[in-house]
Amino acid sequence: MKKGIALAVVLGMLLCGCSAGQNTPQTSKTETSVQSQVSEESSEESKEESKLPEPESRDVFAMDTYMVIKAYGTNAKKALEESEKEIQRLESLFSVKVRDSDISKINSTSGNPVTVNASTRTAIAKAIEIGDMTDGALDITVYPLVREWGFTTGDSENEPSYKIPEQWLIDWHLGNVGYDKIILNGNIVTLPTQFEIDLGSVAKGYASDAVLQILDENKIDSALINLGGNVYALGRKPDNTKWKVGIQNPVDANKMICSLSVENQAVITSGNYERFFEQDGKKYWHIIDPKTGYPADNGIISATVIGDSGLECDALSTALFVMGTEKAIDFCKKHKEIDAVLVTKDMKIYVTDGLTKHITMEDDLKYEVIKR
Ligand code: ADP
Ligand code: MG
Repeated sequence: MKKGIALAVVLGMLLCGCSAGQNTPQTSKTETSVQSQVSEESSEESKEESKLPEPESRDVFAMDTYMVIKAYGTNAKKALEESEKEIQRLESLFSVKVRDSDISKINSTSGNPVTVNASTRTAIAKAIEIGDMTDGALDITVYPLVREWGFTTGDSENEPSYKIPEQWLIDWHLGNVGYDKIILNGNIVTLPTQFEIDLGSVAKGYASDAVLQILDENKIDSALINLGGNVYALGRKPDNTKWKVGIQNPVDANKMICSLSVENQAVITSGNYERFFEQDGKKYWHIIDPKTGYPADNGIISATVIGDSGLECDALSTALFVMGTEKAIDFCKKHKEIDAVLVTKDMKIYVTDGLTKHITMEDDLKYEVIKR
């Protein structure tokens, strides 16, 4: 079995006034057209950089991923210190790998009530709400299946134990899936016995909202929060232009499909290239369809959601991926409050109408507009 690429950074950031290359995992190894585009952008970037003040910057490794936050302003250093502490605090509450995290406590005593921190409660409550909103495409109780497929047993040091579970095991676990069975009473969470949850689909989005609040309290009005590709662009760059965020091409890590000009918005992608393994020529990835117990394979290979709330965008990008092409397009038509970029298996690109003025495609790629 091939080890999947758990690459931390899903989205590359361009012209963000940050040091060149640090946030551009697309840096090509080959002489492709994109390489020149990236380097062109980089040279633009260095030109711009000379005009821009130096941002305060913080690198954090947490939630299984590499994060970087850049902020401008008098209190930036203090704000970033507080942000790092907050991310670590959230990880210690949410991680399924930390033995005494709230989530581990809930999972190890399912059937019994567990009192959790207010942040854990909020994240679970919001995930349940989005479970309802997406007809169960987002289901945080799918964790026993995520684990059975081996997607969380490994960590950065150890080889993950990816495997295709036997059908009877999948069926058995499917009997213990259903976010609507989670009981929330104040800060007390009770799961049915055998149930387990995992906030992997929303944790980084939640963390970006928490960091945003800290930046706000510190009167920072220009920052780029990149939590392993879950991006929030606060305000504009110091030169008063919008931030540019690239979306990775799901079939070629060295390329992007487009870049988006954004301000005060989260841009969050779920893709089938983030964590996967291959067996007998078939690819299996870490986003599980709660209806089948298999990696969601309903036509979409990358779903990006753009909106005000990091948590919502994180949850919805996972959910749109699970829904598949038709349902995801229908969902976007009904929910004008969000924008999305969907990429299908046959490399068709769908873009909601709110984005058409803010998107720049790469390599002459074309898209179809989802009109609302
Ligand atoms: P990433 O964390 O790689 O950016 P996502 O936000 O899409 O990607 O979250 C994927 C993670 O969410 C998986 O690693 C797993 O822990 C969990 N998960 C997988 N399938 C689902 C699902 N249908 N609903 C909720 N959580 C899921
Ligand atoms: Mg998500």
